[in-house]
Amino acid sequence: MTDADPANQPQYTTAVEVDDFRRNIAAVQAKIDAAARRAGRDPGDVRLLPVSKTVPEERIVNAVAAGCHQLGENKVQEAKRKHGNLSDLDVSWSVIGHLQTNKAKDVAAFAGEFQALDSLRVAEALDRRLQAAGRSLDVYVQVNTSDEESKYGLTPDDLPALLKQLPNYSSLRVRGLMTLALFSDDVDRVRPCFQLLRGLRDRIRDEDPDLIGDGGLSMGMSGDYELAIEEGSTCVRVGQAIFGARATPDSMYWPS
Ligand SMILES: *Cc1c(COP(=O)(O)O)cnc(C)c1O
Repeated sequence: MTDADPANQPQYTTAVEVDDFRRNIAAVQAKIDAAARRAGRDPGDVRLLPVSKTVPEERIVNAVAAGCHQLGENKVQEAKRKHGNLSDLDVSWSVIGHLQTNKAKDVAAFAGEFQALDSLRVAEALDRRLQAAGRSLDVYVQVNTSDEESKYGLTPDDLPALLKQLPNYSSLRVRGLMTLALFSDDVDRVRPCFQLLRGLRDRIRDEDPDLIGDGGLSMGMSGDYELAIEEGSTCVRVGQAIFGARATPDSMYWPS
C-alpha cells in the first residue's frame, strides 16, 4: 500500500487461536458473499485462498484447524519448509509468487498449484520436473495489469503468445489468469486493473477457449478483494485480513 493514507487502512487483527481464525475467516467470507451478490454472482464461484506468508507454523496449525485446507505462499523456500514441517496436516500449498527456474524442482515436488507463471522458461522447467515426478500442476498465468515496473507478470501484449505455447507442456493444467492490482486507495485506479484482466480472459475465451482452461481469474487481496469480486474474480488471495497485519514490507515480495 504505497500511496495509501494509513488513516484509511483497515485494522487487521492478528489471529492466534483457532477461534480467532474462525472469526476472521467468517468475516472475510461474509464480505465475499455480499460482494458476489452485489454483482449478481454466485458466492460459491469465488474461492478464498488464505495467504500464510511470514506466519509461523504454530499459528498455521490453528488456521488449518479452523478450516483452511489450502494455503498460499509467495516464496518457494518458505512454502517448502512449511510443507515439510506440517506434512501431517490436511493442507495443499499454492505458490503465488514469482518463480526462478532453479526452484522449479521444488515446486514440482510439493505444490498443489502455481499461480505466478510468467515465462516460457519457467513453464519448460516446471514441465520437465513434473514429467519426471509423474505429476501435473494447476497453473495461472500472471499478467501485469498495473503497468508498473515493480510488478511481475507478462504484459497484456505478450499473453496470447505464451498461452499458445502452453499446450506443449502437458503436465501444466492452465486454470486462468492472475494479477496484482495497483496498490492504491483510489478505486478508480484499482478497478481498471481487474477489468483489464477480465477483458483479456474474455477475448482469449472467444478466440480459442481451449487455451484458458476454466477461464479463472485470481485477483483481489486483503485491501481490494471485494472490488475484485465485483469485477469477476474467481479466487481471492487474502493474507492480512485472516492472519493479521504483516510486519515485513511488501518490497520483500515484489521489487519496488
Ligand atoms: C501476500 C500476497 C497476497 C495477500 O496479500 P494480503 O495483503 O496479505 O492480503 C496476495 N497475492 C500475492 C501474490 C501475495 O504475495
